[in-house]
Amino acid sequence: MKIFVVNAGSSSLKYQLIDMDNEQVLAKGLCERIGVTGAISHKSADGRKYEAETPMPTHSEAFEAVVYAMTKSEAKVIDSFDEISAIGHRIVQGGAIFKGSCLVDEDVIEKISELGAMAPLHNPAHVLAIRACIKTFGEKIPQVVVFDTSFHQTMSATAYMYPLPYEYYEKYQVRKYGAHGTSHRFVSDRVADLECKDKKDIKIITCHLGNGCSITAIKDGVCIDTSMGFTPLDGFMMGTRSGTLDPSALTYIAEKENLSPADINTICNKKSGMLGISGISNDNRDIGAAADAGNERAKLAVDMQRYQILKFIGSYIAAMNGVDAICFTGGIGENDPELREYVCENLGFLNVKIDKELNKLRGKEVKISTDESGVDVFVIPTNEELAIARDTLSIISK
Ligand code: AMP
Repeated sequence: MKIFVVNAGSSSLKYQLIDMDNEQVLAKGLCERIGVTGAISHKSADGRKYEAETPMPTHSEAFEAVVYAMTKSEAKVIDSFDEISAIGHRIVQGGAIFKGSCLVDEDVIEKISELGAMAPLHNPAHVLAIRACIKTFGEKIPQVVVFDTSFHQTMSATAYMYPLPYEYYEKYQVRKYGAHGTSHRFVSDRVADLECKDKKDIKIITCHLGNGCSITAIKDGVCIDTSMGFTPLDGFMMGTRSGTLDPSALTYIAEKENLSPADINTICNKKSGMLGISGISNDNRDIGAAADAGNERAKLAVDMQRYQILKFIGSYIAAMNGVDAICFTGGIGENDPELREYVCENLGFLNVKIDKELNKLRGKEVKISTDESGVDVFVIPTNEELAIARDTLSIISK
């Protein structure tokens, strides 16, 4: 059975075709510059490639290009889209409405659209992609939506409420929703598998560290807290995002520089974090190289991010009254041994011990803690597309 997984942005469309009989990726690709010009790059699992520039005024033309790439191009992997059993979409914001993945119908599309007020860069694009799928593939292929937020819906009000006047929660649903939930769920399931334990019996902290970063506390098998908030700006510093700040710092800067709320939003989302402090890049590889070469601001950015990650982990150990397993994932979590070593050394009070040779591995699933360690520490490459495909299969099988 083949599942087509879609991750749509306003001008881009990432996709994978996954054979669920063996959970292998058959093909993956990316459409870019939708609405502007249009280009597709597509690759089959055996390494064949198809790249083309083709007009994509809307997501519908992008899907038509994907159909061509999959069924007719030199990198074709299927004869017809009739071979595809279902389509799974990644959706960024499900608010308090969507507590799990579900089949698409008109009501679901409308609700995702309404939640666009809380994810203006993402949800409207997801709706365009769902409608374009209906137009391109017809109603006969079922579509499933999988939300970044739904794994965090188990948080209690104690964890998700902001101490603002209550009316803003009632009027505008301002509260913590979290993000990266599909990734936190995928790697925490994997931790339980590797521990050969029921997830309900282990306290897990999952650290998704990439260009966007979040940390989640999982107890009794469910998320009890997570670092991202009302939007994915909250938490600790990321590639270009500031994470948590004293709001007064922002109102002060806004007054001094005569900035609007939209300007402040742009500064905090696009110009802050590792980029803002280093002044070099949002990419940890560039910043690490500059820090090694003696750049003080790059070194400060690296030190700040590590310290903030450690503080979040520490706060979740307190929130759960302990921790059994810590897991690193995402581009940085999977590939930065020094960051992992820093965190583990500073958890020495819990007798955390890692094998420095195993910790050197990059991008591989590995338990880096030793048998004597007081906490098990894992590196687990995330696979959100596979998680979406699994949910899609499970829902259409019901
Ligand atoms: P993601 O958003 O998960 O793709 O992660 C992007 C981040 O991961 C960037 O800051 C990259 O610098 C970092 N990253 C990716 N590969 C490596 C690597 N081999 N070593 C260090 N950092 C990496």
